[in-house]
Amino acid sequence: PYVINEPCIGAKHATCVDVCPVDCIHPRPDAPEFEAAEQLYIDPDECIDCHACYEVCPVGAITSGNGVPPEWEAFVERNAAYFR
Ligand code: SF4
Repeated sequence: PYVINEPCIGAKHATCVDVCPVDCIHPRPDAPEFEAAEQLYIDPDECIDCHACYEVCPVGAITSGNGVPPEWEAFVERNAAYFR
């Protein structure tokens, strides 16, 4: 699955949300929890690795699961934890 990394913190442009074909990026901007969320997260159990979100993120926050750089390694778990 794809992963949303550090550049999303404080940015939350949410450009990715509407391009995801399986609606697995949360919270959505229209959700009550959006304001309080530090960043957006990808549900690893739902992501189909389509690459669409990667293409549109204006801050380069999204990587494939295999492409997460070492300094952002913790974001793999951080994304997954949001959905538990
Ligand atoms: Fe959604 Fe595709 Fe991004 Fe996975 S890779 S989160 S399915 S847009």
